Amino acid sequence: MNDTTLQSRPDLEVTRVRHALKFRLLQVTHVQALTPHLTRVTLTGEALDDFVSASFDDHIKVFFPEPGQDKPEVPVAGPDGPVFDPDKPRPVARDFTPRRYDREARELDIEFALHEAGPATAWAAQAKVGQYLGVGGPRGSFVIPAHFDWHLFVGDETALPAIARRLEELPAGTRAATVIEVADPSARIEFETKADLYAEWRYREDAVHPDGGALLLALREMFLPDGDGYVWAAGEATLMRAVRRLLCGERGIDKRRIRASAYWKRGAQAVHETIDE
Ligand SMILES: Cc1cc2nc3c(=O)[nH]c(=O)nc-3n(C[C@H](O)[C@H](O)[C@H](O)COP(=O)(O)OP(=O)(O)OC[C@H]3O[C@@H](n4cnc5c(N)ncnc54)[C@H](O)[C@@H]3O)c2cc1C
Repeated sequence: MNDTTLQSRPDLEVTRVRHALKFRLLQVTHVQALTPHLTRVTLTGEALDDFVSASFDDHIKVFFPEPGQDKPEVPVAGPDGPVFDPDKPRPVARDFTPRRYDREARELDIEFALHEAGPATAWAAQAKVGQYLGVGGPRGSFVIPAHFDWHLFVGDETALPAIARRLEELPAGTRAATVIEVADPSARIEFETKADLYAEWRYREDAVHPDGGALLLALREMFLPDGDGYVWAAGEATLMRAVRRLLCGERGIDKRRIRASAYWKRGAQAVHETIDE
């Protein structure tokens, strides 16, 4: 893909959409273990009436109750962002993907990847019907056109909800590939899609490769079709940096045709970065 090709396709521009900021207190109606590593929680509430999520890349801020507390503290939307009760400690909050939203049923699904330690994963591991979570946003959406000649999705467990949602949304006949690294085969999920999907799974338990090694190797070896493609990647910060470097360097992906995000960072809490270099 050269510059002229990219400039001649304004219909393939990504767009950014802003949404009115709103915070909602929602109640759990359903908890389902999709795999031993991934739990789906369905939330409901009147406040979901005007929820908007324009892209699989969206995130919501999820507010968790303190241990022993029934409901989380949820801020209100002020002119410059969230306003917290100054007399109370700030609630713990983490970013998650709005996996499925059903306006009529006023339902919102979130899928939690379970890992070793952290307030979000600890909450998800004990989640029960009737409990409450707070949800803020999405504040905006990064909308990637669906009609690229091909789409490539790269990630780990934390990217599964976004990738699964996108695959459900892509129209029939779309050419799509996934390269996903998870802990072991029990962490695999089935994708529902009308797209023509080529799915590659790689495993961290694979003793030959350290974390991320199997993913990078798959990306190095995989077939990339001609035409206008778009790559979306999300997962651990250091690995996603290496993924972007490999795809833009060795594999010749144009920097305007990749969105790589850190969804978490080893040894740090609540990290979210868009990786631009
Ligand atoms: C835009 C966006 C969308 C996201 N969507 C989802 C989603 O839909 N589902 C989802 O599960 N996650 C998603 N994440 C990732 C999630 O926000 C982080 O994994 C978050 O750190 C989890 O919070 P925690 O309280 O469990 O752990 P933290 O308190 O944040 O971290 C505690 C420790 O656990 C480590 N850690 C954090 N996450 C993981 C992990 N996945 N595996 C191994 N170690 C980890 C940290 O490095 C730290 O050492 C998303 C992140 C972003 C930025």
